[in-house]
Amino acid sequence: MARGTCRVSGRFCLGTAAAPRNPDAAMEKKSAAICVFCGSSPGARPSYAAAAKRLGTLIGELGYDMVFGGGKNGLMGEAAMAAHAAGAKVLGVLPEFLKKIEIPLAPESEELIVVPDMQVRKQIMLGRSDAFVILPGGLGTLDELFEVLSISQLRAHDKPIVIVDTDGFFEPLWPLLARIVREGFALRSIESFYHVVKTPDEALDKLDALLGHAT
Ligand code: AMP
Repeated sequence: MARGTCRVSGRFCLGTAAAPRNPDAAMEKKSAAICVFCGSSPGARPSYAAAAKRLGTLIGELGYDMVFGGGKNGLMGEAAMAAHAAGAKVLGVLPEFLKKIEIPLAPESEELIVVPDMQVRKQIMLGRSDAFVILPGGLGTLDELFEVLSISQLRAHDKPIVIVDTDGFFEPLWPLLARIVREGFALRSIESFYHVVKTPDEALDKLDALLGHAT
């Protein structure tokens, strides 16, 4: 599938992929960038790494760019290395103080932006991405998920958020979110801010539809 042929509708063009006014310009514009949030650890089940690799491979094969936390550890590294191997342009955003813990990929595998702190990292990741995909992970992953969800609630962005519920990892979250709504702390409309799928393939199908990705 040729790269550089994706088309992004006006509704989801707040990131790197601005909506082209001239339809011909769509052929020249950059690919949409998918931000992947996931564990910096491999997790306890082989299915997590398999999902991370598959997600990265699909991102590359379908002509998307990938934005991620920058390190080669855990699921983050699996997804980024697979995306690079499949032809994606990979952008890593890593705080200086984390460079010794979350070791960057090889220089030829990613464009690395080193930032002063976590806040700037988040800002850049959000600004440079057109959609977010969340795989299993730890506290950092959940923080990132809730960051994009909560600012979605504030209408600060309307970029798609897709949660890949690998092996039911996120199941305990659904009752909590339902409770938040039931107890009057959020509107039921929060359910429309994210999509839940079972596999990376379903995630990319969803994103292709939402981002108007042309082949
Ligand atoms: P984890 O899910 O805890 O393995 O972390 C996944 C990624 O989230 C790693 O790149 C962490 O550096 C990052 N992370 C950890 N804590 C935070 C936080 N408070 N805000 C944003 N990212 C974080």
